[in-house]
Amino acid sequence: MPLHQVIIPSLKQPLLYEVPGDEGRSPLIGRRVLVPLRKKSVTGYLWERAETAAPDLEIKPILRFLDETPLFPEAMAPFFSWIADYYLCPLGLVLKTALPPGLAVFEFQKVSLTAEGKRALKEEALAQEERNLLGALLRSRGRALARFSPEERRLIKELGKKGWVRELKAWQKEKASPRKEKWVRTGPCFEKNRFPPKDFPLFDFLSTHPTLPLQELRRHFPLSHQRLTTLVRKGLIEMEERLLSSDPLGEVIFEEKGPFVLTPHQEEALALIGRGLKEKTYQALLLHGATGSGKTEIYLQAAEAALNLGRQVLVLVPEIGLIPLMEARFRLRFGGRIALLHSGLTDRERLDQWQKVLKGERPVVIGTRSALFAPLTDPGLIVVDEEHDPSYKQGEHLRYNARDLALVRGRLSSAVVVLGSATPSITTLYLRKQKKLEYVGIPKRVGHQALPEIHLIDMKEYRKGRQFPILSPPLREAVEKNLKEGKQTLLFLNRRGFDTLVLCTLCGAVFRCRNCSLTLTHHVHTRNLLCHTCGFEMPLPESCPSCGGPGIKTLGLGTEKVEKELSALFPQAVIDRMDRDTVTGRRAYYRILKRVEERKTDILIGTQMITKGHDFPWVTLVGVLSADLSLNWPDFRAGERTYQLLAQAAGRAGRGLHPGTVFIQTFNPEHSIFRYVKNHDYLGFYRQELQFRRDFGYPPFSRLVHCLIQGNNESRVAEVSERLGDRLREEARTHRWDPLLEILGPVPAPIAKIKGRHRRQLLLKSPHLRLLRRAAGTIVGWEKELTQGQGVRIVLDVDPVDML
Ligand SMILES: [Zn+2]
Ligand SMILES: [Zn+2]
Repeated sequence: MPLHQVIIPSLKQPLLYEVPGDEGRSPLIGRRVLVPLRKKSVTGYLWERAETAAPDLEIKPILRFLDETPLFPEAMAPFFSWIADYYLCPLGLVLKTALPPGLAVFEFQKVSLTAEGKRALKEEALAQEERNLLGALLRSRGRALARFSPEERRLIKELGKKGWVRELKAWQKEKASPRKEKWVRTGPCFEKNRFPPKDFPLFDFLSTHPTLPLQELRRHFPLSHQRLTTLVRKGLIEMEERLLSSDPLGEVIFEEKGPFVLTPHQEEALALIGRGLKEKTYQALLLHGATGSGKTEIYLQAAEAALNLGRQVLVLVPEIGLIPLMEARFRLRFGGRIALLHSGLTDRERLDQWQKVLKGERPVVIGTRSALFAPLTDPGLIVVDEEHDPSYKQGEHLRYNARDLALVRGRLSSAVVVLGSATPSITTLYLRKQKKLEYVGIPKRVGHQALPEIHLIDMKEYRKGRQFPILSPPLREAVEKNLKEGKQTLLFLNRRGFDTLVLCTLCGAVFRCRNCSLTLTHHVHTRNLLCHTCGFEMPLPESCPSCGGPGIKTLGLGTEKVEKELSALFPQAVIDRMDRDTVTGRRAYYRILKRVEERKTDILIGTQMITKGHDFPWVTLVGVLSADLSLNWPDFRAGERTYQLLAQAAGRAGRGLHPGTVFIQTFNPEHSIFRYVKNHDYLGFYRQELQFRRDFGYPPFSRLVHCLIQGNNESRVAEVSERLGDRLREEARTHRWDPLLEILGPVPAPIAKIKGRHRRQLLLKSPHLRLLRRAAGTIVGWEKELTQGQGVRIVLDVDPVDML
């Protein structure tokens, strides 16, 4: 019997199994199978064929195939392998991330209460823990053994001896299996005289509705199960089960204005894309243009060209909130040929969309980062809109970047990849310089809304002692004026998990590491300033080393605090807040936006969530409360991020007929970035930023692998980190990796503790990808030995985006 590798999502390595009977002939890679593993049965995915196995290996046969056809096209296998290799992670994790959730079928050990146990619970005098456990089993009608703690399991063993509980094997079925619905239709003996007179209304109804869902019928006639059975037995009606398709597509929001006359820039972009599509060669194109510059029209026409050639289209947006807009535009052109894939769908909806794409029924896929894995057999066009957005990077499990992988998938499937942004990432712009992608810059269309006016507010002027107002007087006046005129205001605050910055309120100076040029962060318990990249440390000075004055202050603002203060300032205004605390799901997000759209909200305060892509014609004022927090983020991308955030925030002002105004509050208005922001000169900023990156060897002039060491025990985490650092340095000496590989750390992570877990980090940096990957691969090899029995985990992040 043929041998095949099977990928089991929870395992680090593929295992070998025998493929029984004639199954070996049909297409195999990607088929879902049930295989024996230790004493259980689990779900796996068939992978490549293996010629031979080691002689002493016991090979078991596959138990059964769970589907008729593979769950992804075979052509995607090299893509998955590439990802596993590049991100140094098991193929199982890649498949788990890529495939729709809720498809695992497995066997598990279940504990349930016996009749004797029920009696004991009622009648016997039990110890408290026994009562708790039996009671829990009674309420839950049995529970997986794996969900009990070791102590509870010991107790279960004892209770088992008494015959009060028992362990048995149970099956976990797919959570995402397609939903079925019962339908009724008229039967072969459907005649009026066969119905009893009291059922004539039912007969009449069925005469006009010969086939309908049972639920619908029951809404008119309360039919009991028994009566239905009788009707079926007499042949008056028939019942059947139909697959319920759950389509998440929403309503079309607006009508398209057309026809479109293309600008020369649009023509140029489309000609480039068209050529790539026709020649069927990989090609990357950067569309550099603001919202409203006609990028979407290029996507649409390019998609049409791809479809006309019989190829498929994948469109990625960074956030769920941006899907409805893109979807609406595409739906007007392509109608029902669109599928949506994003995390806001239920498992069932996601599987349904996945299967429609797999069958070729929906050749256009729109979605967030995970849609990158859509099972398209021949994607000809891949669009990554707002390509600079950090949301394309997944921050846990498989830490992939969908923007980077879009280029990889494009290369593997000879597709044209279009990256679009008003503020492309520095790395992408650098690819242009290396001639690795084509570039089309699209200026804002003439006659479109005027660019907003940008005012810089020097917060040093409004300081009182070490205190300063949340709203500077000019911004406060502007908000007041806006309120009086019935217009809306957005107040933007950059805040993430960790939000304090030490600066001088007299001269605006911040403390930077002399090795890395990154901002030092303040540690409350040591009163020290620390560099989280190289570990450089210094005591927090009393007076400012730059101006000598007593202006040193910790700066930190929360949206909640801002909301409170604003309510006091403007008691008559309706103030709303949007941040991670108020927005827990898609609904909450829309609800807040809807209120702004309906002009119910006067002032919206929020984090970067409010700056993305929404058009509110009555928002004429945007205030950035503290540009310093973002600008001095301890990350080499702080400048890039700040420019992108400011540009995006500014882009929210004056989208309608009324011109917009932007106020940016900062202690450091002299910072060169503001000059570029004011002049809307991103390429100028890019040139300056590139110089900084070159000077300090940051990407794109190097690549990084971030290594996080975490665990509950602080000293063990420190110990493992030190050992890892020492071994790595020794390895580097032996192989002479120096000076091409830099090893920075270990140091405490910027967020040194999350949910009781202590965190340290180590950063590998090198201009040589191969060397860097070799070093990172070494860490993977040591992981087990270093961490075993320590309660410590090592997490590698290739091309990290957030290093907190
Ligand atoms: Zn440093
Ligand atoms: Zn100073």
